[in-house]
Amino acid sequence: MEEMVVKSHNEFKIPSRIRNGIQLAAKIAQKREKGSTRYYHCAILTKKNRCVSVGWNSLKTHPKSKNKFSTLHAEVHCLIGIHEKELVNSQLFVVRVGGLGRKNLLLSKPCSFCKTFILESGLKRVYYSVSNNVIARWDVKNDVYTTMQLKENFII
Ligand SMILES: [Zn+2]
Repeated sequence: MEEMVVKSHNEFKIPSRIRNGIQLAAKIAQKREKGSTRYYHCAILTKKNRCVSVGWNSLKTHPKSKNKFSTLHAEVHCLIGIHEKELVNSQLFVVRVGGLGRKNLLLSKPCSFCKTFILESGLKRVYYSVSNNVIARWDVKNDVYTTMQLKENFII
């Protein structure tokens, strides 16, 4: 799949529902016990301001997980078992935290395997962390990426 370039890079106020989604996912990733994987990812699915599913990366895998590694990625974990109807007007937030106290937001762009899984799921919108003050939106249907930059860092 051809990856499209970032369409715009505007500094503006991130709507609170997006901010809340990123923050909730970051909090969950932050609080995860020191586990078997080196990366602290969390994915949450929200609908009408409600969190309907949570996923994280783990060394376990699943028949539906298409990646060649023996790990289950947060995005796939979050979306497994979710009915397509449930994905209408839903969005996925994917976050990775790291650094001291896991207080930094790091790049959490879905890998090619998760991208395929998400495309096939029917989900239309994904937000993921880029850095402490940048969030990206992936418009799945049109495969367009937009970044949103905050004036100040996220406090997580
Ligand atoms: Zn992945």
